[in-house]
Amino acid sequence: MDKLNFLTAGMPIKTGNKGYSRAFEILSDLELNGLELEFVRGVRISDESKEIVKNSPMVKTIHAPFYINLNAREEEKIEASINRIVETATIAQEIGAFSITYHAGFYLGMDKDKVYQTIKTQTGIIQDILQKNNVKVWIRPETTGKATQWGDLEEIINLSKEFEYVLPCVDFSHLHARYNGISNTYDEFAQIFEKIGKELEEKSPLENFHAHMAGIEYTSKGEKQHLNFEESDFNYKDLLKAFKDFDVKGAIVCESPNIEDDAKLIRDYYYSI
Ligand SMILES: [Zn+2]
Repeated sequence: MDKLNFLTAGMPIKTGNKGYSRAFEILSDLELNGLELEFVRGVRISDESKEIVKNSPMVKTIHAPFYINLNAREEEKIEASINRIVETATIAQEIGAFSITYHAGFYLGMDKDKVYQTIKTQTGIIQDILQKNNVKVWIRPETTGKATQWGDLEEIINLSKEFEYVLPCVDFSHLHARYNGISNTYDEFAQIFEKIGKELEEKSPLENFHAHMAGIEYTSKGEKQHLNFEESDFNYKDLLKAFKDFDVKGAIVCESPNIEDDAKLIRDYYYSI
């Protein structure tokens, strides 16, 4: 991508029930760059909406359903999870989306290495299906907000090394919550960019970044809920400074409850640095 784009997680609140064409109008009035389509409750979009989204020149990403667990004990749950990711990626290609993201699975009390191998195997199946269908979009496991969910930074970087179309979606607020308040300083943010930039160098990950950020409330168990930036201790300012210093390009999706207001806040701060 040619710059850092600021996206809302779903349609701006002001859209009400007016649908995607109104959402894109609002985003362009606010000088935001696009949105992440929220398929979190299911891969559902009408043909009419699909046409509208496809024809918009704005940046699009998609969040796949929450009901995904590539480490499920039941075979049918794994199959359904694979299908949800494949369907999301297929629609992403149809509408010209930049990438898709998903929470890959849960540890279910199992050994970390074993879970990694399982998720790697299932991701291989997903990549094979997508390749066979000629679907070429980034599929991105997201760094998750709770220690019970698979997906710390290390695991996601390692998985990205194994597959051509896998890259991380870094949810910085999740990392902050997952580690009960750490990962919130300029140096820690810089280390994340350094690590991803170096370890995944061949894919130019800092030119093709997909990030989530929001204010966040957490406990020792990790993420509790999203908050607006001003109500949270999340250090978005130093994070944006690191984005700038590393010249990161791609999409930042703002997931604060006040969606468009915080998207504007971070956009304005970024350009003020
Ligand atoms: Zn997510």
